[in-house]
Amino acid sequence: MKPTSPLTALAYLVSVSRRYGADPEWVLAGGGNTSLKTADRLYIKASGFALATIGEDGFCEIDRTKLDAMWRRQYPSESKAREAAVLADLFAARVPGEEKRPSVETLLHSLFPQTYVVHTHPALINGLTCGKDGERVFNQLFSDEAIWVPFIEPGYTLAKAVSLKFDAFVAEKGLAPRFMLMQNHGFLAAADTIEEIDRISNSVMRRLREFIAERQGLPPSVSAAAKGAALEGAASVRASTAPRARFEPDFSACAVNARDLAHVVATLERVYRAYHTGVPESPGAPAAQPASMELCILHHASRTVLDFATDSEAFAPLAGAFTPDHIVYAGHEFLRADTEGAHTGARTNSHTGARTDARMDERTGTHTVALTEALADFQRRNGALPRVALVRGIGAFAIAAAQSPSASATAASRAMELFLDACKVATYSAAFGGALHMTPQAVEFIRTWEVEQYRAKVAAKG
Ligand SMILES: [Zn+2]
Repeated sequence: MKPTSPLTALAYLVSVSRRYGADPEWVLAGGGNTSLKTADRLYIKASGFALATIGEDGFCEIDRTKLDAMWRRQYPSESKAREAAVLADLFAARVPGEEKRPSVETLLHSLFPQTYVVHTHPALINGLTCGKDGERVFNQLFSDEAIWVPFIEPGYTLAKAVSLKFDAFVAEKGLAPRFMLMQNHGFLAAADTIEEIDRISNSVMRRLREFIAERQGLPPSVSAAAKGAALEGAASVRASTAPRARFEPDFSACAVNARDLAHVVATLERVYRAYHTGVPESPGAPAAQPASMELCILHHASRTVLDFATDSEAFAPLAGAFTPDHIVYAGHEFLRADTEGAHTGARTNSHTGARTDARMDERTGTHTVALTEALADFQRRNGALPRVALVRGIGAFAIAAAQSPSASATAASRAMELFLDACKVATYSAAFGGALHMTPQAVEFIRTWEVEQYRAKVAAKG
């Protein structure tokens, strides 16, 4: 049903925002944004509000005439000056009395003439947008009703590039695209009713599931032409490959050695405390922790994560950043560390308890050394410690330090959530030609941009 008044429309916007925002299949960690257009206004999610809990007061009210005028303006070509000018115009386009900060994706929303826009970053869809064959599969499945956008720096440059794609689509098809897939970023659906938003979104998900299911039954080496022959021997094919579905992550918990786990946690705690307090690390010294620093370490061990942690080849799909959201919450690079020295695995004849203990100590000693070295190497290369570390045979750790226990717990759980999302994207992307990471330049842009964002936030509060 098309809403009859702006008030009803805004209530609909709140309900669709909360529904998508509360569903982890669509939205994680306060990501995504939604908007509504009336004849002269655009209501868009304001920065600092999460879709899952948003109310009518969480939307920023913008004058569409002023917003549309931005497309005709000439902005500086230098990126910092340009983004600053664009942001100033965006702020100036708010209706009088509106104080909230509009989403940086406001211009993208304004391109679509439809009443509602829902923009999300679902892992399944990002399996395609972060796949080497993503664009090809998009052309095969969706190009009649949607546009594909290659990775472009967020902000005005992206909005401008999308507007060209949008105009070309309209010129060719005579109507506006119903949705958009953005490489290494996510999904945007546009429609005049909430029901239509749901139809579009569910249909994209369903077609991707079907696409993956079709590939699922075949081993990677089997070509489409040999499909019939492979299916005849399906039982033996299945028996010879891993029992879990190749393109489906398995996050059910795995047991790990408690003593090894404790050693890894102790190592992480020692290294991160030393880093955050500036005290040179010495294992024997009492923890010198200022009252203002709280450390949180979360652990996760599942089949999928342990598989990625096995060796550098298994880890390769996670060895680069997939999307800006991953960088912002989980860091631009995950660390993978080996734990066992080659000599340890070769020792087989420990029959007595004492010998077992001796071997265990030796192994945990290797844990500590290998992990400490890997962390030091990461810090040398990146100027900071990782927010997520994978340890072979033990699992993944999200580590965060903040001024309060609740702040460090929130940061660590967001890092873990986005890391697991990256694991999903990596797993799905195998069905779309394999993982396609952001380029080092794009990663660098987001890292600096994130700092800019943060500074702006602090400045706004101060
Ligand atoms: Zn986005």
